[in-house]
Amino acid sequence: MFKEALAKEEIIDVLVEFMLGDSPASALEKLRLEGNTATVCGKVFKNGEPTYSCRECGVDPTCVLCVNCFKRSAHRFHKYKMSTSGGGGCCDCGDDEAWKKDHYCQLHLANRKNPLESKILTEAVLERAEICFGAILAFCVNYLEIEPNASLQCLEGGNVKDGQLDGAQFCTVLYNDESHTFDQVIQTLTKIAKCRHKDAMEIVAAIDREGRAVVKCDTFKECNDLKTAIENQMIPPSALLSNPRNNQSLRTSVLHIGAVACQQFALQLLGWFQEFLVRHYLFRKTFAELVQRKQEAFCIRHILEYDVKLWKTARTCWHRLLISGMLMEYDNKMVLAQEFSRRYATIVEDFISDDHDHAFSIVSLSVQLFTVPSIAHHLIAHEGIFDKLLHTFYHVAIEKFIQNKTLHFSKNIASLTFFKRANYILYDLRYLLSLKPEVLSNDLRSGFLEGCRALMRVLNVMQGMESITRQTGQHMDYEPEWECAFNLHIKLATTISQVIEWAAGDVKLLRKLYKMSVRALVGNSFIVGAEKAEARSVAGHVASCLMYDVSVKPVSIHLPLTRFYAGIYLHLGAHDMTYDSLQTETEALNSKLTPRGIIEPVLCTHAMIAQVAAGMWRRNGYSLLHQLYFYRNVRCRVEMLDRDIVCLQIGASLMESNEFLIHVLNKFNLIAWAHSNYESVLAENPVDDEFMRQLSMIDEFLELLIVIIGERWMPGVSIVTEEDRLRKEIIQLLCTKSYSHSELSRALPDGNGGNSDNIFEDVINTVAVFKKPVGVDSKGVYELKEHLFEEFNVYFYHYTKEDKSKAEELQRERRKAKKQLVCCPPPMLPQLTPAFKSMANILQCNVFLSICTLVMDRALDARSRSFTESHLQKVLHLLGFAIQEELSEHYPFLSFYERSPKYGILEKLEELARCPRLEAHRDFVLWTIKRYKELQAKQAPSDGGAGPSCSKQSAGEEQPLSSEEQASQEKKLRARMVAESRAKIMAQMKSAQKSFMKNHAEMFSASDKESAGEDSSTATGAMEWEDIPAEANVEDEEEQGAVALKQNVACLGPERKFYTGSDNNFKCILCFENCAISRSGPPLVSSAFVQTSRVIFTTPQMRASPSALHMSCCGHVMHYSCWQEYYSNEESKEQRRPHRNRVALSPAHNVEFHCPYCRTLSNTVLPVTEALPAFSSSSTPNTTPLATDSYLPLDSFAEIMRTQASELAAMKLVELKTLPSVTTILRKSGVVADMAQFERSVQLIPNPPELHSNYSDVMAFLSKALLNATQSQQPHPKDHPAGTPLDTDSIETVPMLWDTCSYTMQSLEIYLFETQKPLKAELPMRHQSCAINLVRACSRFSASPSLWTNEWQTEFAARLLDTVFNQKGTSVLEWDCFRVLVSFQFGVLNLMAGESGPLTVIPSGSMFDFYILQTMFLAHLTKAVLCFDADKEQAKRTAETPHAELTQLGYVEQLPTRIRDNMVAFYRRYNIPARVLQRNTQQQLAEERKDEEQGQGQGQGQEQTVVIPCEPHHLALLLEYVQRQMSSFLRCACLFYRCLTDVDFPDTFPTDQPDRFELMCQYLGLDPQLGVYFDMETVYATMMHSFASHPHIGREVEERCQPDTARSLQVEPCLRPLPRLIPLYDDYSDLINSVSDIFCPNNEREEMKTPTMCLICGSILCGQSYCCQPELGKLMVGACTHHAHACGAEVGIFLRIRDCQVVYLGRGKGCFAQPPYLDEYGETDQGLRRGNPLRLCQAAYSRIFLQWLGHGLHEEIARLNDNTNVAVMQWHHM
Ligand SMILES: [Zn+2]
Ligand SMILES: [Zn+2]
Ligand SMILES: [Zn+2]
Ligand SMILES: [Zn+2]
Ligand SMILES: [Zn+2]
Ligand SMILES: [Zn+2]
Ligand SMILES: [Zn+2]
Repeated sequence: MFKEALAKEEIIDVLVEFMLGDSPASALEKLRLEGNTATVCGKVFKNGEPTYSCRECGVDPTCVLCVNCFKRSAHRFHKYKMSTSGGGGCCDCGDDEAWKKDHYCQLHLANRKNPLESKILTEAVLERAEICFGAILAFCVNYLEIEPNASLQCLEGGNVKDGQLDGAQFCTVLYNDESHTFDQVIQTLTKIAKCRHKDAMEIVAAIDREGRAVVKCDTFKECNDLKTAIENQMIPPSALLSNPRNNQSLRTSVLHIGAVACQQFALQLLGWFQEFLVRHYLFRKTFAELVQRKQEAFCIRHILEYDVKLWKTARTCWHRLLISGMLMEYDNKMVLAQEFSRRYATIVEDFISDDHDHAFSIVSLSVQLFTVPSIAHHLIAHEGIFDKLLHTFYHVAIEKFIQNKTLHFSKNIASLTFFKRANYILYDLRYLLSLKPEVLSNDLRSGFLEGCRALMRVLNVMQGMESITRQTGQHMDYEPEWECAFNLHIKLATTISQVIEWAAGDVKLLRKLYKMSVRALVGNSFIVGAEKAEARSVAGHVASCLMYDVSVKPVSIHLPLTRFYAGIYLHLGAHDMTYDSLQTETEALNSKLTPRGIIEPVLCTHAMIAQVAAGMWRRNGYSLLHQLYFYRNVRCRVEMLDRDIVCLQIGASLMESNEFLIHVLNKFNLIAWAHSNYESVLAENPVDDEFMRQLSMIDEFLELLIVIIGERWMPGVSIVTEEDRLRKEIIQLLCTKSYSHSELSRALPDGNGGNSDNIFEDVINTVAVFKKPVGVDSKGVYELKEHLFEEFNVYFYHYTKEDKSKAEELQRERRKAKKQLVCCPPPMLPQLTPAFKSMANILQCNVFLSICTLVMDRALDARSRSFTESHLQKVLHLLGFAIQEELSEHYPFLSFYERSPKYGILEKLEELARCPRLEAHRDFVLWTIKRYKELQAKQAPSDGGAGPSCSKQSAGEEQPLSSEEQASQEKKLRARMVAESRAKIMAQMKSAQKSFMKNHAEMFSASDKESAGEDSSTATGAMEWEDIPAEANVEDEEEQGAVALKQNVACLGPERKFYTGSDNNFKCILCFENCAISRSGPPLVSSAFVQTSRVIFTTPQMRASPSALHMSCCGHVMHYSCWQEYYSNEESKEQRRPHRNRVALSPAHNVEFHCPYCRTLSNTVLPVTEALPAFSSSSTPNTTPLATDSYLPLDSFAEIMRTQASELAAMKLVELKTLPSVTTILRKSGVVADMAQFERSVQLIPNPPELHSNYSDVMAFLSKALLNATQSQQPHPKDHPAGTPLDTDSIETVPMLWDTCSYTMQSLEIYLFETQKPLKAELPMRHQSCAINLVRACSRFSASPSLWTNEWQTEFAARLLDTVFNQKGTSVLEWDCFRVLVSFQFGVLNLMAGESGPLTVIPSGSMFDFYILQTMFLAHLTKAVLCFDADKEQAKRTAETPHAELTQLGYVEQLPTRIRDNMVAFYRRYNIPARVLQRNTQQQLAEERKDEEQGQGQGQGQEQTVVIPCEPHHLALLLEYVQRQMSSFLRCACLFYRCLTDVDFPDTFPTDQPDRFELMCQYLGLDPQLGVYFDMETVYATMMHSFASHPHIGREVEERCQPDTARSLQVEPCLRPLPRLIPLYDDYSDLINSVSDIFCPNNEREEMKTPTMCLICGSILCGQSYCCQPELGKLMVGACTHHAHACGAEVGIFLRIRDCQVVYLGRGKGCFAQPPYLDEYGETDQGLRRGNPLRLCQAAYSRIFLQWLGHGLHEEIARLNDNTNVAVMQWHHM
């Protein structure tokens, strides 16, 4: 194949040498030293590279910096945003037009000083360069086309002789497209090209990456046949993607291999050329001149136009070349922009018919060109680009949909794809207009107007598009298409706003555009065509109304022309233009465009909306509702609803007020209603649907009136600014609830420019207070400042119905709390601009006042039928507006007060206030009266109380009570009643609690000792039922104080406290029957979950070992038989379920189910049995401690164990059935003892309990689950010989159960430690019941007969005993002592036979159990002493706590000298660092002496012994160290024996500080005084010596003396390092940068697309990608799944770095979790959509950590997947 390195050496290097006349390396180095690169950065972004934009300085959001420039620029201290690039695009550093300030980073600022010319690049050099460049370009242009023209010509001189096509000289090449899925292509390849699946995957990955791949190399015929076969392959279109392209075949071609090689080289050459151009300004200058030569094949025009003929990589190479070559200098950029504009139509049409993503099309270059303001303006002025864009759009996208001069999209999804592609034109348009110039030149203005004319043409066909007619009779046959129209609106809305924005700043433009829009409106005939007008009259006023009936004729929600007119109209006032002044200019037209005509379409639309609300359009289906939703949605309303209201306001200000109201009433069909005789007419009609609709229409009418009058926070309508408008919006939003930052910014419309963000920040801080997040889960939220609730308007037009009721309720609560009138009065309104001033007149016109009085009259008339309370509320709101408008004194012409007596407003209000039927509105009425009186006081101060109403005093008496006053009266009355009923309720509550306690306490707690007799305790208070059991028993001993150590509770040893029995009653959660644990009764179980785990494997030795099993259990108890039924049900459900979102990675897993009670994920059951001591308690005296001679001592125990070890080891396979008998062992071990003593010591159970037959089933099921779990962890199941029956009784399941027990206990201990919980702290039930059930199950199982016949078991026990007692096998240094302890505890004692058969021992705290603990305690102690490093400890101590006293010093000093000497001796003899030190010093001395001897020529020949110092303070340090090292072991042991013996922890145990060494020792019956163990006279010291003299330890010392030798010993430290997730960068952008150039491990040329970090070990993986699909079992899985299998034992926590997403994976399933990175508002940013700087939140990270540490990931995944809304994902491809 093609060799890149060779090509570089033989062609490119030669080329460079030719150009520069020097060796390439040195020439380029000289060039670099000369320091002329560029003042702009122009770095082309790779996919996934981080980009930064400055929110303060960026001209628009497309201005970005690369990381190098950003880090060196001033913007890093500004408010910036961060995102990741999708590839393409370049750094804008140094571009004057991209930034408002700080244009340069330090690096590029420095470059400005460099001269443009160069000493190295002489004329001659440039001349040669020109020749080379030309050649390069010509070559590349010729060869890169998919069907190269030049291929055969080039090869003619080569090895192709006429017709003689020898051998495999051709290739079939397959190309990328966006219409076929990966799977489709793989299918084709495997079927047609007969590729192996794996190869097919690789080919597909290559196609996706590079845009093409060679499928086959063969003769021309073979290749061509394959091509035809592939092309003929019709891929059956799937139902969802019935896209015409889908039916197309894959694109293929047959190329000569020579041609492929040339293409490959051309790509390489282009890549090199791009980098070469970056090196010098003069190179780029040459390049730019070259491509401008029109006659050449490589001129810009050609490059632009032939883009579509290339495949993906080839395109990208050319794009990069253009960016580097043309975009770094302004002049070149302009040239490119001009060429681009001229070819725009062709390029775009090619793009639309092409099938590559936008990013891979030359069209994507537009963002580089059109966003430069000066270039954009030049193009508008001189290239007519504005017009051209719209013209192209009109031509390619919408022309074909025009019917009857209006757009009508058919319901054809296929059209959507190309429509979507065409929409990119509108994005370009948006870029083009994004920056409005300060001053417009004439050229620019006329270019702009040209564009506007094209825009008008588009708007004209949009006016009334997708119109709808009310459906009566039957429902619509099909839901009409509506999305296309809205998409078009959304895409165009920004442009419309931009155009209006441009016009607002330029009078000439404004005037022209106004006329243009008037002309367009007049020319458009939608609705206002030739409608008849009829006269209508209300309250003595007559208006000539258009009679367009909305309920039968078509209406549309799309009225862009009218809205555009409204938008322009708003700006007239600022330039002193008015409707009238312009009318004279457009006389001929304006005669046709009357105010009535302006509002008519909008009024029709609003009448339709009102009718929809009144239920008249039900048969029109959902599409209409969707449209109405979007009409007011934040994404559309700026150019829809908002403009419509402005339009109505224009009408209201231009028309006579009464006339305006009559028009609206007419359109709403309410003329009759507005007449006073309406009630009497109505009385004759029945109350039907029609009538109810009428009532609703009245509501809608009044609300529209409120909106027209009240919604005037719009610049142009009132004297307000854009900020005021935003402020109002935010206030109203915050009245409904508190918003987080992201919610708020989503709820507000996007601004046009990048700086809307800043306005938002400014405004939000003036109106709201940011409340910092409190917990890990909560976000920070904004709350409205208290005083601003006054500005609340309940009829705010952007509220949805839900918003409105929520806000109203909150407002009422707030006002109640503040003891104000409970109502939602209207806010004060801003002052209208002169143009809109006359709108205020509505509030005092006759029609208005008569409507108000009509409603009030009808409200007072109990018989009235045409009234609802909401009418009154709205009328009050309107009156409130009227009163407040007059109070504001903005409008001298307002005389509402003067007119009101004529209508009796005040009297009616006062009457309303007294009306009991309208009590709910009384506060609002009172508020209105209050405001009215204020107005009265202001208007007629002399009148005083002599106004239209009666005097104040008398009024005061009659004055109805406000709701608050009334409430307080009622309160008193109620208080009495409450007191009476309270007693009753209390009694009820008590009994309820009692029954709750009965039902639940039993169900929940296995150790709850509450018995029926205790019911009398309820007298102490209902809430104290959670009394502390066991306390009563301990009390007497505890009272005497903790000082006397002997008095403490111990669970083991001679001082052992005995188990006192507990209640074993439960309620089965499935059948709800009471069930008691009994030995022979039906077994009880609790659902449990077993998983493989490596969480606490933190040492190298552990990491190398196979994973352990962890068990968890929720503790809810059920009958085994009940559960079985439940389980088989679940099992069959699971089998029926389609495997939609999971793939069984291993069939070995048990079926997962959920605990029927709490839904905890489970896959097995644990038996629930009674407390262990209950089995042996009958045979032992249970209150007094044993006399010393009643049991065997520790040394006898050790002897017995040793003997047993050899007995077991000596057994031959045949003898397996007969275990060594006790008598033999006793005899052989030489222990003088009688059987009784022995039996007491082991707590022999003389009559083994009969078990229920089901019990063994439970254990078998559990064993199977354990076995299945381990098997899934074995990477290659095939390694096991097939067909081996899985006999659950015989294989390693038993020790597996014990190992599971020890692992689970250790994990629990570490979890408690990490959450800073001491042992005595209250454990959650799931931990407690899990530990207890597990230990009990182990203990019971250890006595099960199946063990006695288990050869593996005896072998295991023999090896264990040999290791522990005979120093064979591993040494104490290599042990995990707790793990050994648990195996020892369960695996040994039952392997002795009595006279009549096997013994039955159920470990529950016998003396032998105690000895086992002692043995392991001594072992652990020995290890700690051995490992102690005096120097290290001393150093650590001085570093950490230099002044702290040695706590053990006092103790050491008071020790008897004998013991202290023993300690010193033991230390010197065995301590490893001491021995190493001694050896080394001795060796050194010996060498020195040798030197001396040689020097002096004589020797003394006497070895001198070095003595390692060991002073009391060393010993104190040692003891402290030992205590610390023992802590984990002791805590585990405490937990373990707590479960085994059922003796609770004493109250001396701390609940709020770390557990203490001596307390734990006491509890375990161990002597906490460490000195005791060094007494040579005791068996302790003997045992320690025996542990310490293991040969491995001596070897370890020797190896340590020679630092270079490899260690053969894997030391397991006493305290393992705690499990940790990897530390993360604090700043998220550092994290992104750290992976920005990481390559896929399978393909070193490809950057990782989805770099994913394993948070357990820190590896970076190539996630969810076709390039990395390793095999697991027989399945191809994603790199993460594969990694998780090994790294986390089937669970994984991954951070997808570019999306900022955390993924949990577990056994083929997964879920997304909250990432630990938060922005300054305490919010995460999954997918980096918001782009705020993110920082690591330790609390959030530690939550992930604890979830992992607590083995909760599977559970979390299951919980999140339970939610049906979760998108289905192929997690195993992750
Ligand atoms: Zn840069
Ligand atoms: Zn820079
Ligand atoms: Zn900045
Ligand atoms: Zn049951
Ligand atoms: Zn449960
Ligand atoms: Zn990869
Ligand atoms: Zn890992």
